[in-house]
Amino acid sequence: MPYLDNFNRPISYLRISITDRCNLRCVYCMPPEGVSWRLHHEILRYEEIELIVRAAASLGISKVRLTGGEPLVRLGFVEFVRMLARIPGIDDLAMTTNGTLLAEYAAELAQAGLKRVNVSLDTLQPERFRQITQRGEFATVFEGIYAAREAGLVPLKLNTVVVRGLNDDEVVDLARLTLEGDWHVRFIEWMPLGTNAAWASDGYVSVGEVRRRIEDALGELMPAKVGVGNGPARYYRFPGAVGTIGFISPISEHFCYQCNRLRLTADGRLRPCLLSDYEIDLRTPLRQGADLAEIRELLIRSIGAKPERHHLDESVSPRERAMSEIGG
Ligand code: SF4
Repeated sequence: MPYLDNFNRPISYLRISITDRCNLRCVYCMPPEGVSWRLHHEILRYEEIELIVRAAASLGISKVRLTGGEPLVRLGFVEFVRMLARIPGIDDLAMTTNGTLLAEYAAELAQAGLKRVNVSLDTLQPERFRQITQRGEFATVFEGIYAAREAGLVPLKLNTVVVRGLNDDEVVDLARLTLEGDWHVRFIEWMPLGTNAAWASDGYVSVGEVRRRIEDALGELMPAKVGVGNGPARYYRFPGAVGTIGFISPISEHFCYQCNRLRLTADGRLRPCLLSDYEIDLRTPLRQGADLAEIRELLIRSIGAKPERHHLDESVSPRERAMSEIGG
């Protein structure tokens, strides 16, 4: 039974950013020059993360999602997945990736125990992909997606952050994929964090507007259930379609009442809430020899520190970190 927070929400999910580094520079996530990377010794070692996950599992956390930056840029990642997959109680091990390196690792990751992946994809236009990511090759993402499907890392979900003036004109094309095949496209409202907080409001598009555009063009959406995953997305599909469309609305319709997660940053900070700068340092006690019981106490303290909800509607947004340091 997962541990309950002060609002009786069972906390069953830990999102872990294993690196702040990324091989792309998505314009809404980080500045072209990148963010000043954490030094190697500041980043948690795989064994340290493993101890934290063991402590989390002892508290009833059963789902772990690995994120970044881009998790696949960190050396030894496949072996690390194998370490986590062996931990009793962790029965859902997933990853969020930009997909550019996925083709190379998909089969090994599935064999190591990874269950499924979400791939960030904000456009279907190769030129625009270059414009948004400032580095990557569009084709590599689809090669990665097909390799992941081939390896059984499914259901594979596509995450699209909708930004006005950048890719909002493509929501219908992305939605149309779900008519053509087994695609699960999720549209995510852009959240003001760190350095982008200032201009996030200009580019913000509510999922309500996204849904209206899609239904005006392609017809009415019906509520739908997707196999696995207990995230905040609400899913729909077109009548007779195989694929689904998900909407994640942290701003227009927040889902804090069902929040079930904690986040761990690459430099070892536990973050009870994505949209609050409050954090608990795990790295220092770990490097002073803290054992599983001590880490467990710090996890319990962070669960106790979870806020009832975020306060974006009062213009209170976190400033200390970029999204690339938290992993979404
Ligand atoms: S904003 Fe904070 S409280 Fe709300 S769902 Fe996200 S992490 Fe949970």
